[in-house]
Amino acid sequence: LATVKQVPADAEIISHQLMLRAGMIRKLASGIYTWSPLGLRVLRKVEAIVREEMNRAGAIELLMPSIQPQELWEETGRWQKFGGQLLKIRDRKDAGYCYGPTHEEVITDFARQELKSYKQLPVNFYQIQTKFRDEIRPRFGIMRAREFLMKDAYSFHVDAESMAVEYRNMYDAYSRIFTRLGLRFRAVDADPGAIGGSTSHEFQVLADSGEDAIVFSTGSDYAANIEKAEALAPDGERPAPEAAMAKVVTPWQRTCEEVAGLLKIPLDRTVKTVALCVDDESDPQFIIALVRGDHMVNEVKLARIPGLAGYRLADDGEIRAMFGTEAGFLGPVGLEKEVRTPGNTLTQVDASNGITQPVTRRVRIIADRSVAAMADMVVGANEKGFHLTGVNWGRDMREPDLVADIRNAVEGDASPDGKGTLSIARGIEVGHVFQLGTRYAEALGATVLDDQGKARIMSMGCYGIGVSRIVAAAIEQNHDESGIRWPEAMAPWQVVICPINMAASEAVRDEAERLHAELAARGIDVALDDRGLRPGPMFADAELIGIPHRIVIGDRGLAEGTYEYRRRDEPESRSFKRDELLALFD
Ligand code: ATP
Ligand code: MG
Repeated sequence: LATVKQVPADAEIISHQLMLRAGMIRKLASGIYTWSPLGLRVLRKVEAIVREEMNRAGAIELLMPSIQPQELWEETGRWQKFGGQLLKIRDRKDAGYCYGPTHEEVITDFARQELKSYKQLPVNFYQIQTKFRDEIRPRFGIMRAREFLMKDAYSFHVDAESMAVEYRNMYDAYSRIFTRLGLRFRAVDADPGAIGGSTSHEFQVLADSGEDAIVFSTGSDYAANIEKAEALAPDGERPAPEAAMAKVVTPWQRTCEEVAGLLKIPLDRTVKTVALCVDDESDPQFIIALVRGDHMVNEVKLARIPGLAGYRLADDGEIRAMFGTEAGFLGPVGLEKEVRTPGNTLTQVDASNGITQPVTRRVRIIADRSVAAMADMVVGANEKGFHLTGVNWGRDMREPDLVADIRNAVEGDASPDGKGTLSIARGIEVGHVFQLGTRYAEALGATVLDDQGKARIMSMGCYGIGVSRIVAAAIEQNHDESGIRWPEAMAPWQVVICPINMAASEAVRDEAERLHAELAARGIDVALDDRGLRPGPMFADAELIGIPHRIVIGDRGLAEGTYEYRRRDEPESRSFKRDELLALFD
């Protein structure tokens, strides 16, 4: 053990602090950690439960390489598309490889060679293995590391129905895993992100420090990641315009909050304008996205809009060129005319006069559902230092090109399933299940012969668990001022025996060793603290590293035939006779 008292300065969240103080992990480089013998005991316990439940659910373990060849990733197009998280490596022959961030390519390559007939399906392969993702912001210790341990499973099917059945099977297996681990969790509807596919669910451990916002209904079992949770259109028709459009001076007011403050109006009367750009080779496209001043733009929903995949925020130069102003004063009024977009080198011949002209475009206006339902809005004037009030759709500007759900759901919104209202909590994503469909099998040509003897592209599911992240997530949920309070299933040891003054007392030493052997023989994971520490520091360590049961043996107790027993989650010790003590562990 290598415990420390001081709270490490650079550890922001409690699990990171406690893992360092308990000596479970040590940092080697940014996002790269050594698991000490103590930390590894916990990690292995998590791993064992995951493995047991995967096996019980009918999945089959294998082990794939962590280094993967570039060519394979080029077959699916992800060598480019996966982005900066992919750690690319060159060998001595200058051939390209990556350190696997995930294994869809490798398993599908395996499957296209091994699986020939529908009779071999369905099949679900899994591994527990080290992954590397070059995270932009590694933080919170092993919670968001660059190197981490994942359980990843991939299932293969002759059709989508079979895939859906296995998806449900994995969903249930995950629920058992997180229940056995003693975690408070929630399965939520999720966006599949870079892995792709249609249906997906995340398993979220509920904790205030969680990086994810999860949205759930107070009136039903609806639950979704905020990236995915639908925000419905407001009830009722758009009100008729009442005010005339007017220009107001807002010299320093660039945010909706500042403008609403100056004008003394509610924030939900203002509209936020965000300028976006889609890089289309020689002809960049500009789009403005509008959300109500009290709402937040949802980047995942935006990226799902046709034509917006891979969009980015327009930069200051582009905003000046397109809108003639600065970001704080943008608005949708006066964008009717077509203009030549900055960077655009395309030309076309004007049929009426044969003159070659630059291609021009209009800025596309995408309004959130709630903005489309507004009247008498306050927006930027596309002029530095000014906003417009009393702005109305149709009258003062054209109707939006697209009305879509592009905002984050907020507390109190109507639940998308029509039952109850939405609440928001924080979560830590510890698992994620996906229905991938044929995307990878198609790209890699993974087919089997069906019962008619015809080649069919296999459907796939994939299922990840952040084995190492679970350790941190469990601490976020289970700790107090003295340290970690492990759920029984994850504790490095279930029981610690603390002998008082063992060096001086042969009786204490003998009994401590006897009890240790006896508990071990019963299959209890028991530690004997024979470091010879004084009781204070010895107990403090046991509490810090979170052992659920502590037994103290001292000369005085032995004389009376009693042992002092304390549960980690109870404030007081209790005194037991030997048989009573052993009965606790039957
Ligand atoms: P996140 O949104 O947290 O970045 P992800 O959605 O990219 O995760 P998946 O591809 O779904 O992650 O990976 C499966 C699981 O691996 C996740 O549910 C998570 O528990 C774990 N995981 C992903 N990235 C990391 C990381 N950087 N450090 C530790 N665990 C991670
Ligand atoms: Mg995920």
